[in-house]
Amino acid sequence: MTKYIFVTGGVVSSLGKGITSASLAVLLEKRGLKVSLQKLDPYINVDPGTMSPFQHGEVYVTEDGAETDLDLGHYERFSTAAINRYSNATTGSIYSEVIRRERRGDYLGATVQVVPHITDHIQEIIRLGAQPGTDVAITEIGGTVGDIESLPFLEAIRQFALRQGPGNAAFIHLTLLPYLRASGEMKTKPTQQSVGKLREIGIQPHILVCRCERPMEPGMKEKISLFCNVRPEDVIEEADVAHTIYEVPQYLCQEGLDAALVRHLQLPEAPPVDFSDWADLVDRIRQPQGEVEIALVGKYIQLDDAYKSIYEALGHGGASHRHKVKIRKVDAEQVSLKGADQLLQGVGGVLVPGGFGERGLEGKVSAAQWARENEVPYLGICFGMQALVIEFARHVLGLDGAHSSEVAPNCQDPVIDLMLDQRGIQDKGGTMRLGAYPCKIQDGSLAARVYQRDMVLERHRHRWEFNNGYRTRLEAAGLGCSGLYQARDLVEIVEVKEHPFCIGVQFHPEYKSKPLVPHPLFRAFVGAAIQHHNGGAKASPSVKPSSAKA
Ligand code: GLN
Repeated sequence: MTKYIFVTGGVVSSLGKGITSASLAVLLEKRGLKVSLQKLDPYINVDPGTMSPFQHGEVYVTEDGAETDLDLGHYERFSTAAINRYSNATTGSIYSEVIRRERRGDYLGATVQVVPHITDHIQEIIRLGAQPGTDVAITEIGGTVGDIESLPFLEAIRQFALRQGPGNAAFIHLTLLPYLRASGEMKTKPTQQSVGKLREIGIQPHILVCRCERPMEPGMKEKISLFCNVRPEDVIEEADVAHTIYEVPQYLCQEGLDAALVRHLQLPEAPPVDFSDWADLVDRIRQPQGEVEIALVGKYIQLDDAYKSIYEALGHGGASHRHKVKIRKVDAEQVSLKGADQLLQGVGGVLVPGGFGERGLEGKVSAAQWARENEVPYLGICFGMQALVIEFARHVLGLDGAHSSEVAPNCQDPVIDLMLDQRGIQDKGGTMRLGAYPCKIQDGSLAARVYQRDMVLERHRHRWEFNNGYRTRLEAAGLGCSGLYQARDLVEIVEVKEHPFCIGVQFHPEYKSKPLVPHPLFRAFVGAAIQHHNGGAKASPSVKPSSAKA
């Protein structure tokens, strides 16, 4: 029988509920349990696909093509849980399904209400989130306790736990212990009030995870225990970690989070957890042998969350070579104004990420040109791949009017064009080419050396594609098309043949990179950047990571 854990947050947002939930999954998996993870978001968008990256950060795409919250990226990076379209739901998706059922007549004349119809549907989603055979299903409730929007979710998990019976569901509440510099002390009052809010709704948390800037002061656990009706051993400290978020699982294990859950959920006892793999990873990050700087040329550089998975994947690639990756965040628009030479000089590699619309595209094209001409390693992802194709068509093939029809619908040479099945689509939400597609890798190519396989499965999120009308000419001029989706003859990977490492991929490899299993493209790209940085003109992806586990 599946046991359930609900993770709520109090006091403020951005406490790191996602990382805490993902770390908890690691701890339980290390005890031999099969875990699933799910996030319920109280906002009204049906999914985050239509939200600006400035608003909500990156949109994380699952293997089965759902556009989801970026916390699911943490889930997949930390754990081995299968993440799919049932792993994320929102107020919008829940209401739209209930309303669809109402229109179909499913409620047989009943007045459709928040309780029980919405709360029942939330519980149905919680059950769907637990994959078959799951021992422990973790569901994180987005937002902060006390928000108007969270109420139906909290009511639903209260009912759910009641139905499961004692010992089968546990509530973890994540709170903040602010440190007041002026008085030199850590305060528990916001935690007391936040737990009070939960208890008003009928939820008594079993475990409190307390976020704090520095370790808790003596006696604090007892005080929180007394005021919040939680045993002292169930008050878990989660102070800021020194170097990397990948320290969190081990930290929470030492604090006894998994042991507390074993007690509450009567989970099987297990031998002490072996953390050597995570300890090795953390060691590589804490004590690098060198540093390499990589430019990320994008338009959402002010907000770290907007390229979350890319920053993480670069870090994974760096750790596999025992190198720290320093990121130079370059505003794509500035590249057009100030010139690539000025902004990119000195970097070991250039990464152009995905994006939409006109703003910044010319700067991305210039960045690709600069990297190609100066033999600096280049990785173009989605829009960054399209920028490389435009650049190559303009400056090598001599097609001055080469462009993407996304930005210039009437351009002379639409080397990037709207996919046939996208024509006529009006709705923006959930209508792109989404999710995993197989890609056949061409023998003897850079891509083949990187992947060491001839078939890979990568995730997509785009409407435009490489225009096959230009393929023969581009290939003849030296742009290899080294990855294909054969069923539709779509070009998924391009690479500049006369270059140590210049590659563009139509998909998003960053979604599949894990700290313990870095993605081959990021590992090879960072390796090439290190070689370039060290003066090796011919960077090669065969640079082996220093005894990487992956
Ligand atoms: N705007 C481009 C397209 O839709 C690229 C999308 C992306 O970078 N994710 O094809």
